[in-house]
Amino acid sequence: MLGTVKAEVRTYKNFVNGEWVAGSSGETFPVYDPSTEEVIAQVPSSNAADVDRAVKAARAAFDSGPWGQTNAADRGRILFKLAEKIRQNTAMLAELESRNSGKPIVEAEFDIADVATCFEYYGGLANKVMGHVNPVPANALSFTLREPVGVAGQIIPWNYPLLMAAWKLAPALAAGCTCVLKPAEQTPLTALEFANWFAEVGLPPGVVNIVNGFGETCGAALVAHPGVDKIAFTGSAAVGKLIVKSAADTLKRVTLELGGKSPNIFFEGADWEAAVDGALFGVFINQGEVCSAGSRILVEKKIYSKFVEAMTEKAKRIHLGAPLERDTKMGPLVSKEQYDRVSSYLEIGKKEAKVAIGGGRPKQFGKGYYVEPTIFYDVDNNARISREEIFGPVASVIPFDDEAGAIRIANDTPYGLAAAVWTRDIYKAFRVVKAVRAGIVWVNHMQPTYVEAPWGGYKQSGFGRELGPWGLEEYLETKQVFVNLDETPIAWY
Ligand code: NAP
Ligand code: MG
Repeated sequence: MLGTVKAEVRTYKNFVNGEWVAGSSGETFPVYDPSTEEVIAQVPSSNAADVDRAVKAARAAFDSGPWGQTNAADRGRILFKLAEKIRQNTAMLAELESRNSGKPIVEAEFDIADVATCFEYYGGLANKVMGHVNPVPANALSFTLREPVGVAGQIIPWNYPLLMAAWKLAPALAAGCTCVLKPAEQTPLTALEFANWFAEVGLPPGVVNIVNGFGETCGAALVAHPGVDKIAFTGSAAVGKLIVKSAADTLKRVTLELGGKSPNIFFEGADWEAAVDGALFGVFINQGEVCSAGSRILVEKKIYSKFVEAMTEKAKRIHLGAPLERDTKMGPLVSKEQYDRVSSYLEIGKKEAKVAIGGGRPKQFGKGYYVEPTIFYDVDNNARISREEIFGPVASVIPFDDEAGAIRIANDTPYGLAAAVWTRDIYKAFRVVKAVRAGIVWVNHMQPTYVEAPWGGYKQSGFGRELGPWGLEEYLETKQVFVNLDETPIAWY
């Protein structure tokens, strides 16, 4: 259902304490359609004063608003209503997401369905949070209460805009927290549209606030703010490190979902067609703008040449097109900045390795931040294109001798978000699963993940887990209640 989002440029505001408010400086910045390079909206460039206003609203809603008195089942009902709004408006949200981020419309529709599923999951989980009775000596009773961590500051990237918002907001609300969300500067629009339904579903003012702005100003002010109890961040490792340093001053709780350079490992004897497809899908889905992209393709030497050839042949068939066309498999990158960044890695890669396919801008597009699906082969694992996260459609194919060699290369990275292994040999598959240090390991697949299962990284891919009960845990504190059952006075003097 295209055409539901009007093309005129609209100026959005921040959503604070249940109201749409302009940024205090009056400054705005443009939001683009990366396929046409046209401005499609303006949003406030918020400063520390705007963040302060939002945090104060979230603080008041947490400390003295009705939210703190809401019972868990009612919070769950509100989350179900939010999910229903998302489902009813899938076409509008998917189209807006696709236009703003450049992702293919079919993928955007999957994302929006996942957003609804995430709110439904945490809607169901909200009233299943339980404490424990602790087996202390008989003259006392000890039990635990699970309480919300407080005000959560949530900072998200541009690759899955509304889905990343859902991964953060849904568990926080289920836990009883209040939130200040900062969307990525490139892709704030779906989160802002979402806020239009908050009052209608019964979210009290101040429970979810959305401030737009740049990371260095708006994001940093949120991280530093003493009224924020926890920062949940998804983005680059470089910014993750800044956040940990800044949050140390107020000892905020911090969870980080950072990047990766994930190995996708192929052994001789793997199901051939599935493996070749899995290598391409693993790295080129969402234009390669995926934190778990299988950007290091490790291939056993016995099948290496044939595998590179097969990948190259199939990669020719990947259809690049306008994001809103239904047969598009890869759209443009999200922004000029990201296009320039990825293009610079293409030049680095040409010096470090051989090009099987791609390596530049596809000729058929006059406008838009399109990059060809690019496969570098004979890549050394020490090359920059093997070590640094590119976050674009760029694969490094690396040969290995045997299982031990594959594991060594797979783990030779600062990251540890994801990995995949392709083989029919179940002994080998599970040995690799155990040996690879990553937050998820797929066997004979790469990329699918569901809200019921944990997501997060080892090593410099971050700490904490999102989704499932793990994701809710991150928004809870544990209070022990100790009840003395012994009336005898303490005689310690
Ligand atoms: P980024 O530069 O780290 O930005 C992520 C968010 O942090 C944005 O909202 C950004 O604001 C904000 N930010 C930037 N500097 C900040 C600062 N000093 N203080 C506070 N906030 C700050 O990453 P990106 O380029 O947007 O996204 C790509 C990265 O995200 C990749 O490394 C990717 O692997 C990672 N990622 C990880 C996951 C995961 O689940 N592990 C998922 C998706 C993406 P503005 O952009 O608005 O300025
Ligand atoms: Mg930025």
